[in-house]
Parts: sequence; structure tokens; C-alpha cells
Amino acid sequence: MALRREPHVLVVGGSDSSGGAGIARDIETISSLGVRTCLAVTAVTAQTHDAVMEIHHSPPGLVADQMRAALQANKVAAIKIGMLATAEIVVAVAGVLLENPQVPTVLDPVLASTSGRALLETDAIAAMKRDLMPLCRVVTPNLIELALLVGSELAMDEGSALQQGQRLLAAGPQALLIKGGHASGPRSADILLRPDREPVRFATPRLNASMRGTGCMLASAVAAHLAKASPLEDSVRKGKLFVFEILRLRGWRMRERRYL
Ligand code: PLP
Repeated sequence: MALRREPHVLVVGGSDSSGGAGIARDIETISSLGVRTCLAVTAVTAQTHDAVMEIHHSPPGLVADQMRAALQANKVAAIKIGMLATAEIVVAVAGVLLENPQVPTVLDPVLASTSGRALLETDAIAAMKRDLMPLCRVVTPNLIELALLVGSELAMDEGSALQQGQRLLAAGPQALLIKGGHASGPRSADILLRPDREPVRFATPRLNASMRGTGCMLASAVAAHLAKASPLEDSVRKGKLFVFEILRLRGWRMRERRYL
């Protein structure tokens, strides 16, 4: 059977018709870093930049079949997971990861859109923590996702975010990257937490700019660098700088809602 030898990132997630987030953003990001992609679609959504109108879930067996076919067809050197929609899809994806423990997996635990629509059913959170997180190289929650995943109030300072992070680490991922973009202050800091290691902080100046899909971009950029065999800490550093540069060049000004 033909097998593509160049390293690929297998992107597992939902489509967003607006192009602002989801698998279109993932593929764009990973390609721009010179890494090829293959694909397993978990959901199809109809969205504008302001609202999610419709969500159609893929059957869980079809998600697993897409992943297995992608893994057979290509040399998959990393997996990036975004929107998973249901507990059944979470379990199906975890099953395929169990068959491929050598491939580093980046999980962006997408729970809801910025406009407030749930992108993961509530009963799927337990399955994600129990079945999926222990199989992941790194999980990348923002502060809102972190609080929901550990069942706490939103962390108002770095100390409480770190405490919540330690609790989520106990669910078994090898590392956690807490994204501080939703906090305030002159710098935007993400923190890499690993068991028995000191936390590592990655800070960039906070820009007066915003853009959809930055979470998708960061997790995808980290996966692309892992696929190029960079160690985790380097992959995170390069991923964070990549998103900073894109935001600086292409984000829109917060208050005026217009492009820079
Ligand atoms: N739609 C899909 C398919 C996504 O994967 C995501 C986030 O990962 C979103 C929507 C939410 O994007 P935003 O928060 O920018 O609205």
C-alpha cells in the first residue's frame, strides 16, 4: 500500500463554515509551518463569526475509521484534537489513540464557542478527563475551560490557575499548557505544567488585538513542531510566538472591531 513518508499532523475536529476556527484554521496553521495534514471530521457546523447556527455530529465509528485510514495512509508524527462534540466521539477517538501510543497528541479541550454555544456535550467532560486526557502529550485549556474542567470558579490570579492546573494534571495528561489570554495585565502568559517539574512561563506583550481561532492555532502550531521532532518545551515556545506574530499582523482592534 502507498504510504506518504513525510511527517503529517492528523487533525481531528469540527469544521467551521466561517473559516475563523476549527479544522480550516488547523490546516492553515500546520501547512504554514511546512507540515502536511490529514483529517478526521467530528462535526460539521454552520457558523458566522458571531454565531453558531447548526451543528451536525459525525457518527463515532466514522470518526474512528477516518483516523485509522489517515494513520494507514500517512506517516502521522503528531495528532491535534479540537472539537469532539459528544461523549461517544471522545471514547471512539480515545480508542484509536490507544492503538497508536507512540504518536504525541495535543488536545485542545474545546467546550464552547466564544458566542456561547456548547461544542462539547456536558456529559462528555467526564469521558474526556477519564478516557482521553491520560493518552495526551499535552492538553491546552484556556482559563475558562480549566475552571469548567475542574468544576471551580474562574481563576482570578496566576496562583489559583496553577492550583486548578495541578488538579487537572491529576487526570493524567503528561503536560498541561494553561493559556492566559483571557487574563489581564501587560503581558499574556501561558504556563506549561508537568508532574514533578517546575512550571515554565511563556509570556508575550499583550496586544490590543483579537482574532477567532487563536486556541486552534496554538494547539496546531505545537502539534506541527512536535511532528518536526522538537521537544515539548520548544514546540510550545515556537507555537506561542507564531500566534503572537499572526495576532500582531492580522488581528482586529478590540474596541473598534476592525482589522489592524
Ligand atoms: N467551531 C469549531 C469547529 C471549533 O473547533 C471552535 C474552537 O476550537 C470554535 C468554533 C470556536 O471558536 P471561537 O471561540 O473563535 O468562536
